[in-house]
Amino acid sequence: MIPVSCGQIAEAVGGELFGVDPAAVVDAAVVIDSRKVEPGGLFVAFDGENVDGHDYVAAVTAAGATASITTRAIAGSPCIVVPNAQTALGELARLVISQLPNLTVVGLTGSQGKTSTKDLIAQLLAPYGETVAPYGSFNNELGHPLTALQTNEQTRFLVAEMGARHVGDITYLCRITPPKIGMVLNVGHSHIGEFGSRDAIAQGKGELIEAVLPGGTAILNADDPRVAAMTARTKESVVTFGEGPDADVRATDVVLDADGRPGFTLHVGGTEHAVQLQLVGEHQVPNALAAAAAVQAAGLTPEQIAAGLNTASTKSKWRMEVTERADGVTVINDAYNANPDSVRAALKALVAIGRARGARTWAVLGPMGELGDTSLEEHDGIGRLAVRLDVNRLVAVGEAARPIHLGASLEGSWGNESAYVDSSDEALELLRKELRQGDVVLVKASRFVGLDRLATALIEEA
Ligand code: ATP
Ligand code: MG
Repeated sequence: MIPVSCGQIAEAVGGELFGVDPAAVVDAAVVIDSRKVEPGGLFVAFDGENVDGHDYVAAVTAAGATASITTRAIAGSPCIVVPNAQTALGELARLVISQLPNLTVVGLTGSQGKTSTKDLIAQLLAPYGETVAPYGSFNNELGHPLTALQTNEQTRFLVAEMGARHVGDITYLCRITPPKIGMVLNVGHSHIGEFGSRDAIAQGKGELIEAVLPGGTAILNADDPRVAAMTARTKESVVTFGEGPDADVRATDVVLDADGRPGFTLHVGGTEHAVQLQLVGEHQVPNALAAAAAVQAAGLTPEQIAAGLNTASTKSKWRMEVTERADGVTVINDAYNANPDSVRAALKALVAIGRARGARTWAVLGPMGELGDTSLEEHDGIGRLAVRLDVNRLVAVGEAARPIHLGASLEGSWGNESAYVDSSDEALELLRKELRQGDVVLVKASRFVGLDRLATALIEEA
């Protein structure tokens, strides 16, 4: 962290100093895990369900931490005592960001594709200036400020993934890191339970667009009507991305290669460039377009953008991870999450990969969560699509996925080609019996289903 005195910290977080010299300086990392504390650093003690951070304050003091932020004074340790540790962490991050006038914050939210797009943006920007981006999906009221606190005077870009469960969440995150560039990818169904309705989700995600700084840029998905409508929520420049001819940044001629990776013509800034992504599945095309629009707003040229997209790779696990087993069976692990768009994209990638290898294809699909009353219809549609795309074998796993099997059976008068099983163990048993050398198997479901264990078991089988 940039050097900040304990006096300044106490003022910013509304804390009281106990046993701390106000002039003592914090100049190393801010951590919430006592084992990660560094000399000169700051420890924030959270009173969690299983552990109370206050039990470790003496240890971090012994390890050389300058101070700890706590909710009660701990005798013998320098403490900045606050009413609420989470709020204090946010205020501290806000203080640090406010002292970095040359930092450009790129904030992004959406129901799907945040981490994929974040990883792309960070890789595109990194050659042009020091870039900080969250690890994985560190996108909430804890992960976000902890990421923001990794910036310093040398940092040029902060790419911030922002998640939301309630109206007001994104406003809170944007207060910590006011975005110069703000982007909404899409408004789906995720967390609809907490939000109440899809319009409420749009309300919540659009807070990012309202927070775009004067002179900044809002980036919106032209293909998602709820997102496109957010143009009314800012006076700043708006750049759109999407498939339609009216989008500012768009892709034409999308073709999947032999590894299921999309290539396309990128239209950006009045120029056209051939791009070949290194990511699998055509759902990565809108993510790439969104990333292109963001980095263009950050100052990259169309040539730099195209070159970056050609080489950027996946950083996060279980997203269309392709592994070839020693026995020649290929497993595509996409057990991280599933929604209708990404399942359609995954099936197309499966078929492209299978066709290029002349291989038999298997789609092992679990339920897609959070679809509300469209669930049955969407699952049925996926089964039918699998037949139309000519997937060779289908295994639907778990009760909510049964309509996938039924849809496939009705669409194609399939017999043994489609199966339904109750559990991931049964699916594994079936696959063990029937997989042949050269087969390509896609495993995809929402994460709560636990099909990642099936994918891992399959990969380790050979
Ligand atoms: P989380 O809310 O878990 O942080 P996220 O928004 O960060 O998710 P990613 O991790 O990038 O999203 O992708 C999660 C899953 O969503 C992927 O495995 C893929 O199935 C799907 N996905 C990614 N991008 C898109 C997209 N543009 N449209 C639809 N689905 C997508
Ligand atoms: Mg994420």
